[in-house]
Amino acid sequence: SVDFDVQRVRADFPLLSRTVHGKPLVYFDNANTSQKPRQVIEAVDDHYRKHNANVARAVHLLGEEATAAYENARDRLAAFINAGSRNEVVLTSGTTQSMNLVAYSYALPRLKPGDAIVTTVMEHHANIVPWQLVAARTGAIVKAAPIDQNGELIVEKFFELLTPDVKLACVAHVSNVLGTVNPVREIARECRKRGIPLVVDGSQALPHRPVDVQAIGCDFYAFTGHKVLAPTGTGGLWAKREHLQAMPPFFGGGEMIREVRFDGTTFAEPPHKFEAGTPNIAGFAGIGAAIDYYQSIGFEAIRAWEYELLTYATERLREIPGVRIYGEAKEKEPVISFLVEGAQAMDMATLLDLEGVAVRSGHHCAHPLMQFYGVPATLRASLAFYNTREEVDAFIAALLKVRKLLM
Ligand code: PMP
Repeated sequence: SVDFDVQRVRADFPLLSRTVHGKPLVYFDNANTSQKPRQVIEAVDDHYRKHNANVARAVHLLGEEATAAYENARDRLAAFINAGSRNEVVLTSGTTQSMNLVAYSYALPRLKPGDAIVTTVMEHHANIVPWQLVAARTGAIVKAAPIDQNGELIVEKFFELLTPDVKLACVAHVSNVLGTVNPVREIARECRKRGIPLVVDGSQALPHRPVDVQAIGCDFYAFTGHKVLAPTGTGGLWAKREHLQAMPPFFGGGEMIREVRFDGTTFAEPPHKFEAGTPNIAGFAGIGAAIDYYQSIGFEAIRAWEYELLTYATERLREIPGVRIYGEAKEKEPVISFLVEGAQAMDMATLLDLEGVAVRSGHHCAHPLMQFYGVPATLRASLAFYNTREEVDAFIAALLKVRKLLM
């Protein structure tokens, strides 16, 4: 068994010690959003108590401090994903905004009737719907590469779809429903060979593994802060400099201009060209603390512990008659989708909540994946490094109890 001082970690997360419905909380909805350590909460609190002002507007000291906090988040994120330059990191409200920025600013001007965008059946709607919206405006189409019953992308089929009409390829680094880790380096290599830019949805990878966008070799990498211990409404888009230079702005307004004139406005350089308006400054003030937290523990320890929890939870789940697990990829992160024969996912989740267990039930913003498996919904237990084996036991005990009630 892995040596990991999980109780020490848990002491940093105030919310984990609360009860729900009179039961100790078992929070297994981490793929939805992570809980926050006090270091992050304190950084946000400190910002509002001592440094609150708007960014890039005022010469006064508070304005400088707020700007420094915001720009520091960019530096920290750039280092966290090994971007070649801080100027390749656009700060956004999260993956959804990042994807829409690529869709409207990069894809839309390049698409014409008959062109295609390739994505996969396992994607989150954030990596499907923006492409459909720009395809509908231009007469382009969206094609989806298939997966197999284990929830692995059929990579050869993905490559077969990469024909000369394809203007963009999109894939999740890690599936939010299945936990599947996709071979993004190999996919990026094949895309490069064909001159097709690749967008990677990193939402579910960042919480679990060190990410190196340069080593992956993709063109765009989108991510969300709230799944990596940071506040909601924070995230980013990493893009190769040449793409950001070529992209027109998507949102217009303050902060993103050089000079505004009625005979022609000029824009700031990237990344600020894409950051109109007042951002979530306090949220970004929490990014540094979140990254510090990850680094203080280290991904090696995090991965070993999460893998142990995943293996243990999977084994225990398999002992329960009638449980079917969706997503049995060879390489997966600690996300377990499952159903119990004879019970509706929503009923199970509602009763589990009464036992203190927070799991998600539903389609997980992945309708096409549900259609592939022929189910309307699954239950999803998604783990984080601050979870424990005892919580897995409590989850299994609650599941057995609830299953009996529903049978
Ligand atoms: N992609 C994936 C794989 C996700 O898991 C999520 C969040 N559930 C998103 C995109 C969207 O992220 P956000 O809601 O933070 O924009």
